[in-house]
Amino acid sequence: MSVAYARQAEWGIPQLYLLPAAKLNPFLEELKEYYTVIGPVARGKEFVFAPVAKPEELALSYQTTLLPPKKVLHLPFEVLFSFHEDQQIVETAPEQRPQVIFGIHPCDVRAILILDKAYTAEYPDPYYIAKRRHTLLVALNCAEPGENCFCQSLGTGPDLKEGYDLLLTDLGHGYLIEVGSPWGRELVQTMDLAPAPRVAMVEKQKVLENARRKFHKKLNTQGLPELLEENFRHPIWEELMHDCLACGSCTMVCPTCFCYNVVDKIDLNLKSGKRQREWDSCMLLEYAQVALGHNFRKDRDARVKQRIYHKLVYYEPQFSTLGCVGCGRCIKTCVKKIDITDVISRLRGE
Ligand code: SF4
Ligand code: SF4
Repeated sequence: MSVAYARQAEWGIPQLYLLPAAKLNPFLEELKEYYTVIGPVARGKEFVFAPVAKPEELALSYQTTLLPPKKVLHLPFEVLFSFHEDQQIVETAPEQRPQVIFGIHPCDVRAILILDKAYTAEYPDPYYIAKRRHTLLVALNCAEPGENCFCQSLGTGPDLKEGYDLLLTDLGHGYLIEVGSPWGRELVQTMDLAPAPRVAMVEKQKVLENARRKFHKKLNTQGLPELLEENFRHPIWEELMHDCLACGSCTMVCPTCFCYNVVDKIDLNLKSGKRQREWDSCMLLEYAQVALGHNFRKDRDARVKQRIYHKLVYYEPQFSTLGCVGCGRCIKTCVKKIDITDVISRLRGE
């Protein structure tokens, strides 16, 4: 029995619905009444996650976006509070209006599940938690993997098994909707949707089988931590040190990177200011600099290694998963074409 049919039996109502293609825009219009809808929209030849003003803007056939949708939950810049010389401190009000991330791909949902662990477990982050609580994930299984995608090797795509409120699969004539949470169930119950016929699950499997045949890249995960630990002094790191520009782009586009810096910005009147946090990157020189100027990762090879070892070795004991979801953004964005899958193949001597 599929997960969706098992839930259907458990909750006693249909958990699979069919949204005919012609009803997508009215569905979005209705959603927008209650939620801020954020989805993939075209910007030139690329796609970005942005608030959807009109349903026609939504580009569900995108392959990947420049920045991951994590930017909606963990903002690139975020004011934590503002202050004034009279010692008045004004905290930033938590996000209130509920929002939907619509059309988020499986790899990006899996990345948010990692961020959930990073930001809600040992050191709960109130800014992240406030936004996360008000965010509904309407995921979309992938039918057309991009040229840099390798989620299939990591089991993080092209389909999704957990972490969504609603999960869509484009069947061509319409969308199969699978319900993944009570919030998602509430939402579909307010919409006038017909239960999906069982054949829709067969159609879904065909879409996914077709997608699985289209991957170009792969990453062999067999014994990965051991492989990296044994090759800490491999000559490839020195080579990458010369190739890498240490610009930090690979980490800025990564959906699982969560580091940030906190800075105070004083206004020109020198009487007021704000404390803000901003994305930071272990690839940048200043990241590991401490008091008196000592830097723990002054050499570029140490930073290149840190990024790859953190993703493929250090996440596992911390979050019980690899830190890479195979979205391929770091490969696409790297001006020197450094490719994490290629690094691993070379360490394997392939
Ligand atoms: S390391 Fe690269 S491929 Fe892996 S999740 Fe981050 S950006 Fe995507
Ligand atoms: S990495 Fe997989 S889940 Fe992510 S966009 Fe590509 S095909 Fe979809």
